[in-house]
Amino acid sequence: MRVAIGGLALESVSFLPGETGLAAFEREALRGPALVAALRGSATVGGGFIVGLEEAGAAIVPLVYSDCAAAGHASDAAFEAYRDEICGGIARAAPQLDGALLYLHGAMTTPTRVAPDLELAAAARAALGPGKPLMLALDLHGNLPVALADQCDALFGFHYSPHIDMAETGLRAARCLVRTLRGEIRPRLTLRKVPLVLPSICTATDLAPLAGIVRASVEAPPHDPRVLDCSVFCGFAYADVPQIGFSVAVVSDGGPMQAPLWRTRWRSGSGTRAGRCCTRSWCGRWRRGSTRRCGWLSMRAGRWCCSSMPTG
Ligand SMILES: [Zn+2]
Repeated sequence: MRVAIGGLALESVSFLPGETGLAAFEREALRGPALVAALRGSATVGGGFIVGLEEAGAAIVPLVYSDCAAAGHASDAAFEAYRDEICGGIARAAPQLDGALLYLHGAMTTPTRVAPDLELAAAARAALGPGKPLMLALDLHGNLPVALADQCDALFGFHYSPHIDMAETGLRAARCLVRTLRGEIRPRLTLRKVPLVLPSICTATDLAPLAGIVRASVEAPPHDPRVLDCSVFCGFAYADVPQIGFSVAVVSDGGPMQAPLWRTRWRSGSGTRAGRCCTRSWCGRWRRGSTRRCGWLSMRAGRWCCSSMPTG
């Protein structure tokens, strides 16, 4: 079993005037054997990839890995250089590869691109070739376009903010890839957007509203035994992109999910009243005699619905 690993991560505040150029990415970049040596045992996504692959006895093909945290746009030149390096590496190794694992943030932008992570995933998918699984690990703050689900076999997000589970997220992805290559599971990915975005200061998962959402989704036992993994992405507010906001990803075994995927109760404070979102797919109502709003986020048959919403 031979698996390529790599990563390119930047949370882009797209309103900032500056760009994150090649030199900034290069300061963080790891390549080849040094990548594995530096990340092995670390609390990083790459560290989790390595644990999951080495425990399975898989051979690791290291590409390039650079995590630039949060800043402005990536420069187009920097993005293109890393896209080409990652995908060129995959293409050269593809005849001997069984699959690939990539860490992308999910909220990168460049001056001319609103979804470069999607572009990179699509290029990696093409370089790897058909029939070989590509799985992604992503930041909880990713603004994921639904088209990302067409470019990978499974994706996994951090469950917590602060991000205390980066290595665990990489490990979830690696173990899923290994089980897939062993023929134990046939992952199918369902990715849905929720028309809601929170400022980052409200996205701590120990606090409301995300604490309840996390307890009821990623920490709760799956209601369907086919569910292998669930990720809730709350998006990144400081980015001017059409795919901004929440999304939910479910990796299931054997077929796409048709039954309810994930449901949790949202009890928002009055501060969110001004930000009330589209009522066509978000259900909620104001509690009588209160400024608080109660609702249920529910996904049934692939659509968000409000049929089971209580009066609160
Ligand atoms: Zn984040």
